[in-house]
Amino acid sequence: VRLSMRRLAGASGRDSLVLTLLDDRSTMQAVDRMRADFVAHASHELRTPLASLSGFIDLLREGNDQTDPASRTLYLDIMKQQATRMQRLIDRLLYLSRLELKTHHRPHERLDVEELFALILGEVTPRFQDESRQLSVTHEEGLTLLADEDEMVQLFLNLIENAIRYGTRPDHTLHVQLNARRATADNHPASDAGGILLSVTDDGPGIESHHLPRLTERFYRVTDRPDDTAGTGQGTGLGLAIVRQILERHGGRLHVDSTVGHGTTFLVWLPTAPPAPDRTGDEEN
Ligand code: ADP
Repeated sequence: VRLSMRRLAGASGRDSLVLTLLDDRSTMQAVDRMRADFVAHASHELRTPLASLSGFIDLLREGNDQTDPASRTLYLDIMKQQATRMQRLIDRLLYLSRLELKTHHRPHERLDVEELFALILGEVTPRFQDESRQLSVTHEEGLTLLADEDEMVQLFLNLIENAIRYGTRPDHTLHVQLNARRATADNHPASDAGGILLSVTDDGPGIESHHLPRLTERFYRVTDRPDDTAGTGQGTGLGLAIVRQILERHGGRLHVDSTVGHGTTFLVWLPTAPPAPDRTGDEEN
């Protein structure tokens, strides 16, 4: 509040001062409301798997060890799935809140795209041992970003994990491509500002266009997936919210291009790192 008063010292008059104070208060109220909504939503999301877990525990207890082995295995499998889902949700919620708390984050470091891709590959290669999935990685030489390494790895893991989760189908070899190139007038409208385009493309089922604008909202999931047989949806709806948050911290942008039946491309634009300072010169000074 004090800040806005100072900012208004040279402004026209009393009316505008009052207006700004009210404005600040309503912004604060809006933020409080968003927080409350977020907590309510997160609790609701956790409650669903918890209720299911609790229900199956009751079933097993009522069975008094008499439950037939096949049902027992089925119940335990579902319980494990629900526990994993809760774990995932909690991990992602914690990650998001840690991101938000990082107000004075470390200065971004110069990141070589080739090294970044090697790190990402180290994490995802085990998921591509299965013959039904193939990963190809291509990049132009000499690309450097100014970014937080851990956050960049997390961003691309989320995108690649989504490609696998939503693209894997029986009798289909899923192709995932990871690519990096310089932004140019031909491939990106923001090319004037320079920058690097990184993309994750899959040939999975694609996403209907009316979902695209909402994909990065927290808890937003595309619920009418035909393979969503569990009903609760296996995702958390937080993966792309994390992607957006990381990009906001880097002055980056996300564009999603998808065709139902053909696949999806998540295109990330990030600013290029300025040329490295001349170290010899530094030492002389
Ligand atoms: P989730 O934790 O549910 O995966 P995300 O925020 O990562 O949450 O994704 C939001 C929704 O976008 C998902 O529920 C999924 O339906 C859809 N989606 C994300 N990536 C893809 C993809 N590569 N192909 C098809 N659908 C996708």
